[in-house]
Amino acid sequence: MSKFWSPAIRSLVPYTPGEQPKVLNLVKLNTNENPYPPAPGVTEALHAFPTERLRLYPDPDAGKLKNVLARHHNLNAEEVFLGNGSDEVLALAFMAFFRHDKPLLMPETTYSFYEVYCDLLNIDARRIPLDAEFRINLDDYQQDNGGIIFANPNAPTGIALPLARIEQLLQQNPETVVLVDEAYVDFGAESVIPLIKRYPNLLVTHTFSKARSLAGMRIGAAYGHPDLIDGLQRVKNSFNSYPLDMLAIEAATASMQDDAYFRETCKRIMDTREHTTAALTGKGFKVLPSAANFIFVTHPERDARELMQQLRNENILVRHFTRPGIDQFLRITIGTDAEMAQLIEKL
Ligand SMILES: *Cc1c(COP(=O)(O)O)cnc(C)c1O
Repeated sequence: MSKFWSPAIRSLVPYTPGEQPKVLNLVKLNTNENPYPPAPGVTEALHAFPTERLRLYPDPDAGKLKNVLARHHNLNAEEVFLGNGSDEVLALAFMAFFRHDKPLLMPETTYSFYEVYCDLLNIDARRIPLDAEFRINLDDYQQDNGGIIFANPNAPTGIALPLARIEQLLQQNPETVVLVDEAYVDFGAESVIPLIKRYPNLLVTHTFSKARSLAGMRIGAAYGHPDLIDGLQRVKNSFNSYPLDMLAIEAATASMQDDAYFRETCKRIMDTREHTTAALTGKGFKVLPSAANFIFVTHPERDARELMQQLRNENILVRHFTRPGIDQFLRITIGTDAEMAQLIEKL
């Protein structure tokens, strides 16, 4: 606390990112990074980049990448927005769409950054409990609101909702923005992007950090009706006109050009997830059904925090959240088969 701080920041409780340790050779299963490198074309594009160009500002709209993403998702470039990681895209969306008098509806257990943005921006949030199986029940979201946000698959549970159920919600809730955070959608869930043409209040966010192995580059996207994208542009251009640097634009574009590599690495992670789930279930763990690149697990006789600490002593990092209701769970990122074999052995 300092007398120099503005009053509004004194009460902030910032998001705590998972640890990024300085020591090497840890088995790092704590921040949902991809265990495989980005597509080979990304390395080539970065090596080939003419650095003399860096003296210029990048394209403020990252038009080249926007066009590639629009084509990939059968959208127009006017339906695509880009930002410095999806965390930034989400923050801009909260500013653009959720500052209303009515409360923003979100799951009680979900990506914890959402409530941090609410704090920062003075948005009243109504946090709706998951059901007994840790699922989002969208029936509970049929109430007056200033917006709705959830992750699909949800984090940190990994559980996905079917597209048809989200479409029902959109039919019942036409007056406010419904933001679906699809950070993990490529690991086995259904994207709602095809619904964008029919529901002008649907905004979908994606990231290059998880399935595209580019967490270090900070690239996120939003897809939605041109009016929503326009709203995001207005906020972006009141804040930071150049969120994507030239290298990020090149890397993301190259990544999109190698669909075979993308599908292969996603499939490998999903296969490893299923083996790991079976092995841990065999050891008495309860593993929630995951459509993401992580699993959320609990053991009836072992304290989760102690397990986390014991794994840490064995150089294996996993994530533990102290929030009541989920404090007996560990969130374990899916690594390579070899990494998961080490985890299973130590457990
Ligand atoms: C990782 C994650 C993000 C953030 O992704 P970045 O693009 O790295 O900022 C957003 N939402 C959820 C649910 C995530 O897990």
